[in-house]
Formats: sequence, structure tokens, C-alpha cells
Amino acid sequence: MDTWWTEPVTSLKGIGKKRAAAFERLEIRTIADLLNYYPRPDSYIDFSHLKSIRELAVDGSRQIFRAELMNVTDRYSPRVRQYSVVLVRDDTGYAELFFFGAQRYYLRRLQPGMDVLVTGRVKPGRSAAKTVSEANISPLDEESLAHAMGILPVYSLTESLTQQQLRSAEKQALDLAAERGLPETVPRAILARYHFPDRLTALRNIHFPASPEAFRQAKRRLVYEELFLLQCGLLLNRERNYDGRRGVNHKRDGALIKAVLANLPFQLTAGQQQAWRDISGDMEDVHPMHRLLQGDVGSGKTVLAALALAKAAENGYQGCMMAPTGILARQHFQTLSSFFAGTGVRLALLTSNTKASARREILQGLADGSLQLLIGTHAVLQEDVQFRHLSLVVTDEQHRFGVSQRGRLAAKSDFAPDVLIMTATPIPRTLALTVYGDIETTVMRGRPPGRKQVETLCYTGDMRRKVYEGMVRQIRAGRQVYVVCASIEESETQEGVRSVNEVYEELKRTWLQGIPCALLHGRMKAAEKETVMEAFAAGTVKALIATTVVEVGVNVPNATIMIIENADRFGLAQLHQLRGRVGRGSCQSYCVVLTDNKDPDTLARLAVLRHSEDGFALAQKDLELRGAGQLFGLRQHGLPDLRLADILRDTDVLLMCRKDAQGALTNPELRQELLAGTANLFDSRFAGIFNS
Ligand code: ADP
Ligand code: MG
Repeated sequence: MDTWWTEPVTSLKGIGKKRAAAFERLEIRTIADLLNYYPRPDSYIDFSHLKSIRELAVDGSRQIFRAELMNVTDRYSPRVRQYSVVLVRDDTGYAELFFFGAQRYYLRRLQPGMDVLVTGRVKPGRSAAKTVSEANISPLDEESLAHAMGILPVYSLTESLTQQQLRSAEKQALDLAAERGLPETVPRAILARYHFPDRLTALRNIHFPASPEAFRQAKRRLVYEELFLLQCGLLLNRERNYDGRRGVNHKRDGALIKAVLANLPFQLTAGQQQAWRDISGDMEDVHPMHRLLQGDVGSGKTVLAALALAKAAENGYQGCMMAPTGILARQHFQTLSSFFAGTGVRLALLTSNTKASARREILQGLADGSLQLLIGTHAVLQEDVQFRHLSLVVTDEQHRFGVSQRGRLAAKSDFAPDVLIMTATPIPRTLALTVYGDIETTVMRGRPPGRKQVETLCYTGDMRRKVYEGMVRQIRAGRQVYVVCASIEESETQEGVRSVNEVYEELKRTWLQGIPCALLHGRMKAAEKETVMEAFAAGTVKALIATTVVEVGVNVPNATIMIIENADRFGLAQLHQLRGRVGRGSCQSYCVVLTDNKDPDTLARLAVLRHSEDGFALAQKDLELRGAGQLFGLRQHGLPDLRLADILRDTDVLLMCRKDAQGALTNPELRQELLAGTANLFDSRFAGIFNS
């Protein structure tokens, strides 16, 4: 088959090496990538519906208008350095457009008096003029006028690409597709059932809609397609990992469970008891358990892992628990070792730091069954880690693991093992279904008694001095602190964000001079990160300046202050997770939420944090305020990103796609057609999940 769409974009006119590099930054490499790069859903320019400046809603939504350019003023501020303000007008009013960093490149071709087209997020301004951020401005030239009655796409761009260049590339790609033909990705029977347009028609109308109705039909099909392919991929993945194996039915709770319970320095809370009833019930059933245990940070999930592991062991099987970092795995190992003390159960820790000789011994013990429980990191996934009879798999802080990793662990058993997934992030039902497949959920509410409240303070940046004084006071009193930043490097596109490097350098020179402090971020090597975390846990490092990598459940009881810079960049649930890093010891702890954003809505949003300790309520608030798309990237689960579909908004379609995917995969003809359609890599986003 002619797979012309896999050719690089350089085969198109006007795209040389340099421009290809700009496309590469948008992850567009092939012509198929280009065709699958849809315009921003909310920013088509419909020339029959241009608003006047007065008509623009000042609600921060993305809007489009036509205006006359008055002037461009370059300004400077220490925080964002060079930026430009563009003043435009029409007969009804004025608007100011702000351009930072590389975006200022777009302004070079503009001259006062020009007729321009503006898209951007509109808000009330300080003066009479409205303010437009994330703006896009282009002269209203021949191309635009030629389309004057049509609908033009607006794409997300990086610097050095213009809308015109992208539109021209898309046009060429669509012409090629019309000439040489495109593969279909959804079985024809399904297209017919829902009266969906074929793929070429859909792509044409998503890029250059012939009419609003044609656009709606195109979008309807492409939303379906994304969700349908995602569901098919997930089902195939599941087939590969689970087929044909029987589950294990564990017996009712016995002596080992009793012994572990007796070892606990506390009584189970009502929430823990209920969760245990769910889990032990599942484990006693021959149908394999697939359960998500959701409980806020500090709700006491580890105990449940311990009980489940005990249940596997007392039935003569093995259990394995996987955590996303070495430190977390070690902490679990220590906790579980104390819970299993005196029971005779053998458990081991396996991470990438485990010495070769110790590792050999562990592998031997797992293979002959003398070692019952294994706690570890991704290291447990390695090929040569083989169990004698694994009946339970627990993963902690699951959102850090991908779909295929989870599958690989479950595949290490001759049975279909029981699977328990623990997470502190509340996940809406439809998202859980997507990410985990068919899954039962236990939500553990409340928290064990005796935990100190963390005092939460919201400050704007002018209070930074006071905050740092407090930080130094705590360190002098023997405590430790976290300072969390929103980005790693200074970036020109994110104005006003204090990067972790910048803050680290600044604090080291000033407030933290002579105090041992360390830097921690995601671009460091895993071993480096571990070393830094170890030092912080051991208390030799007093201040940790980090990105959100510290979010995942580490336990350093001596840390009493969490300072979060540019807090407006985070969701409430995420801030709550960060706050959960302190307040783990006996001392009063503080979470200081700093922002330079004085927008009343932002401050109100952050203030919610001061009055709520309920991670689930906060996550709900996030959903209301920020929408689902922002919060749940599928990519961190090892799934393709969705471009048009929204898992929370398109729930109905999602559920329909699940059914259709099941139907398609069990029907030999449809299955054949589907696999053939996806094998030709038309949409590389889905390649990983179909072929893993
Ligand atoms: P998470 O759900 O965040 O993983 P952990 O399992 O780490 O929470 O538990 C948090 C803390 O609460 C631990 O120090 C643990 O010993 C303690 N804890 C757990 N269950 C109880 C309980 N029923 N009563 C008192 N303390 C408990
Ligand atoms: Mg935990």
C-alpha cells in the first residue's frame, strides 16, 4: 500500500530544513502528523460573525475581532523584560494586546493604520481599553479577504511559524490526500451506523470548514474516532495481558491478617475497615480483583496494602507492591517490615540501586517461593524478575505509571492476579474507566485521628521577605522546608514565572547563605534525584528547592514549611497534594501559597485552600473552575493525548465508544478492518497503545 502520509513534511512545497524544525516543535514530522494537527477548537475565524470591540465579552474566553492598528509600544519590566503593547481600535472602542518574548516576532510586519484581525482572551483592562492576552494578530490581507465569507482555522503555534504558513501546509496536505487517498481508521459499518463523514471529508472540514454544519459533523466524527481508537487500544492491551488466565480465590481472613492487625500501633478507622471489606471480598472471589483505592493524602492507604499482601501470603501466594520512586518504595518497605515483624513472612526491597548480589538472592527467593513479598520501583518490571506464584499486585500513586507498565507487572503470573491500585488523586468515574479499564472504586473518606492541621497562608509576592524570614526561623529551630516552583527554567513564553533554578540561585546567595540546601527537578537523573531526597529525608539538607516532583508521597516528618511560588499556576488538588508533604510530624506546620497574580478570581480560588483540607472537594472545585482538559493529561498514563475529545464533557460518546470497541474487537471482520486501518500508522498518536 502506498503510505505517502508517512513522508516527512519537507516533501511539501515551502518547507525546508529550518521550517521543518519549527514543525517538529509542534510534534509534526510527517504529513499525517500535519493532517492530524487540528486547529484550536474555539478559535476559528468566522467572517460572517466578527464582533466589534464593544461586543466582546470580557470573560477571558477566546474571541476574534477586526480592528485598526494604532501603535505598538515596547516596554520593559524587570520580571518579564521586553514586552510589547499593541493598541487597536474600531468605531466602538479600544483594546490593548500584550505580547511577550518570542511572540513579539509577529509584530514586525505591522504598521499603524493597518486593518488587522485579532484573536485572544479578552478581559477588562485597567483603562477604558479591553485587555487581550495570548493574542494573535495578523494583517487582514488578500488571503483573509479572499476568504471573507468563509471560516478560517487558527492553530496553536510556536515562534517562527505563522498561521499563513501552517494553513498553506495543511492545504497542500489535504490536496495530496484528495489525490492519493487516505486510509479509513474507523470500520465502515460504524461510519454508516452514525452517518459519519469519511476521513478525508472530516479532515477537510476540521481544517477549512465549508460551513458551520460541515464543521460540526467533522468534529462529531473526529471526537468519536479519538475515543473509539483509545478504547480499542485499551481493550487490546487488556487482551494481551489477561487472556486465558484464571483468577485466585483467597480464603477468608486468617491468622496472618490477625497478626498484622495486632502489630499496628493503632485501630483501623471506619473508612479503612470498609475499604478492607471491599478488598478482601474481591480477593476471595475467583474473578480477578481490579480495584482503585482512592484516599486523600494521609488517609492511611498503606495499611490496606499491608493487609492485602498479608492475605496473599497467608494463602501461600506471593504479593508485589510497586511505587513510583525509590524513596517511596523504601519507606513502604520499612513500614511493611514493622507491620510484618515477628510473623515469619519474608519481604524484600528491589530498586535500581539494589546491589547485584542482593538482587540475585531476591530473584532466587521469588522463583522458589521462599520470598513472599516484594516491594520496589519500576525495577520489579524487569524481565528476569519472575515469581513462583504471584496472586496480588499493588501499585501506589498509580497516576505515575503507564497502562503498559501495569500490564507488564500483572503478566508476571500464571494466574490473573488481583490488582489493587492506590491513588491520592480523585479521578472522575469516566476518566478512571478510560485509564484503568473496567474497575471498581473504593473511596476512603476522612483521615486517621491525631493529625495536626497545616496552617495555610496566601500571600502576594510583596510579602516574600516576611515568608523567607519565617523560613529561616524554622530552619534555625531545627526544622526543614520545601520551596516549590512552577517551572524548571526561565521561559519566555511563561511571563513572570519564577523558575526553580532562579529561586535556588537567589536563595543560596541570600537567605539561605551557609544553610545546606539542594535543588530537585524532573530533568535530573533518577539517581541524582534519589541522592537529594535521601539527604533531605536524613536531615542533612535543610531546604529543598524543587518542582512538583516532590508531590508524590514522600514522608519527611521534620519538614514544617511548604512554600509554593507562582501558586496560581497549579490546580487546587495539586496544591493540596503539595501541602500534604508537611504536617507529618508533631510540630505545627505551614503551607505558604505565593502569587504575583492580583486577579481577584485567582486570589479567591487560592483562598479556598485555606479553608479546606478535603482533597476530594478541592479536586471537584478544580473541575468546576478549570475544566477537565487542563487537569487530566492522558499522556502521563502512557495514553495518547486527545485533541478534540474531552473525557468529562464527552462522557456519552465515551461510553458509546466502549461498547462499540468491544463489539468491533469481537467481530472478526470488523476486527480485521480495524487492525489493518491502524497498522498503517496514519495517526501515530495511537501507535504506542496498539502495538505495545
Ligand atoms: P496515605 O494514604 O497518604 O498513603 P499513610 O498510609 O502513609 O497515608 O498513613 C498516614 C499516616 O497515618 C501514617 O503515619 C500512618 O501510620 C497513620 N495511620 C494510618 N492509619 C491510621 C489509623 N487508623 N489511626 C491512626 N493513624 C493511622
Ligand atoms: Mg501513601
